[in-house]
Amino acid sequence: MRTIQHWIGGKPTEGTSDRRSPVWNPATGQQQAQVILASPADVDEAVQSAATAFLTWSQASLSMRSTILFRFRELVSKRVPELAGIISDEHGKVLSDAAGEVQRGLEVVEFACGLATVLKGEYSDQVSTGTDVFSFRQPLGVVVGITPFNFPIMVPMWMHPVAIACGNTFVLKPSERDPSVSRLIGEMWAEAGLPDGVFNVVNGDKEAVDALLDNPQVAAVSFVGSTPIARYIHRRATTNGKRVQALGGAKNHAIVLPDADIDYASDHVVAAAFGSAGERCMAIASAVAVGGAATDLLAAVTEKAKAVKVGPGRQPGCEMGPVVTSIARDRIVGLIGSGVAQGARLVVDGRTIVVPGHENGFFVGPTVIDEVTTEMDIYREEIFGPVLSVLRSDTVDEAIALINANPYGNGTAIFTSSGEAARRFQRGVNVGMIGINVPIPVPMAYYSFGGWKDSLFGDKHVHGPEGVSFYTRAKVVTSRWPRTDHASDASYLFPTAV
Ligand code: NAD
Repeated sequence: MRTIQHWIGGKPTEGTSDRRSPVWNPATGQQQAQVILASPADVDEAVQSAATAFLTWSQASLSMRSTILFRFRELVSKRVPELAGIISDEHGKVLSDAAGEVQRGLEVVEFACGLATVLKGEYSDQVSTGTDVFSFRQPLGVVVGITPFNFPIMVPMWMHPVAIACGNTFVLKPSERDPSVSRLIGEMWAEAGLPDGVFNVVNGDKEAVDALLDNPQVAAVSFVGSTPIARYIHRRATTNGKRVQALGGAKNHAIVLPDADIDYASDHVVAAAFGSAGERCMAIASAVAVGGAATDLLAAVTEKAKAVKVGPGRQPGCEMGPVVTSIARDRIVGLIGSGVAQGARLVVDGRTIVVPGHENGFFVGPTVIDEVTTEMDIYREEIFGPVLSVLRSDTVDEAIALINANPYGNGTAIFTSSGEAARRFQRGVNVGMIGINVPIPVPMAYYSFGGWKDSLFGDKHVHGPEGVSFYTRAKVVTSRWPRTDHASDASYLFPTAV
């Protein structure tokens, strides 16, 4: 059985723990590896390695840092197919989707390659006679990333390229469900010339996470995962005096107006609901049909959901793979059953799907459930599976109110041909990322990614300008170089500009 190790100080290590967790192949239902679950001592070793590396990395020139980032970008982009294969084998998503995830991660690396521009400070000449003021930003120290299973490359890449570009050192605690790619990322950083200890990976579960949150040498924590854990991470790490951004779960709505192109809208709603088997924090979980859109929309999504090609992620032509574990599958199946029991109407039932040759895989077929109401568990819970709930509202304003009453606020979309309705929507919804005729509005890397309400604990979104702000702190210098023959003008008054 293959054993997945940590990556500490520029080399693989097994650490001191004898705890292990299975890594499944979701398409076959077979265990394919085991990952070591770090002990607190292993975590401390990784943090110490990063703390030691910070002493020199924080002094590395901007040109040295950007040279390494450019090399890293080239190494990752040459290995996209290999990385996509590993992701598909452990996560289950189809190869093209996995390659797309690597590409979206690379966009953050490209943003970080421009660090010399984004780290430029400010300068005010002659704020007072003979006095100038300038500001610049410095790294925090050892920063930590704790990441979910659903984007094993992209989500860590929202963090480490920006943190490292800003002069920090990094400890990644990836999901224990699909940890293999993180080790390869460590090797690629090393090949790019990153000094040992600047990027480290500790595999583990709650025990490792808690050791990171409590370690006094950790300056900041970036977390992405489910809302209960995000809330916990934020509380514990801020209590320990750390800077924290903790991105949580989601329940994203797409509203479809009667003036929308229903063919276009239904194509995109179905792709956004069932792509990656719904295991995306930006997946569309709820379609809200406004007024007369309901009949045509329901007919179109029903037909298109039935046509989705489901199978193993590596099989050419497949559009949707399995979900990540049997536990996830059973939970999704249970939530669909609860929807039926609570009065919703099951239109497409994915619970009994069988994929020939992969009978033991963790498959759930595309599921469409109509007449869902906001009190039902299937609406209130984040399902994180291939289930599209259909709700109705009479007006755009009623649909906006429905979205705003939901505790999550990650992403949302409107399908319409009315600029007025789109503008009312974009201004009125309490959600961080909004798509107008775009179902999954994940911002480009030079903007920042983040939700509102229970989808984010902390102030800063990830990557882009807010990521740079999160991983640095500002210094403001007031400077004066008086002439040697200048009479002293020291005063007991609070200094004012003259
Ligand atoms: P998860 O919360 O179970 O795990 C995330 C990380 O936290 C993992 O590294 C895990 O090991 C760790 N963890 C789990 N339980 C813990 C505990 N009790 N104490 C300390 N650490 C713990 O999330 P997941 O199932 O891996 O990922 C899916 C979730 O992530 C969904 O809710 C999804 O919406 C969310 N997500 C959000 C975003 C976003 O940008 N907001 C992006 C991707 C995923």
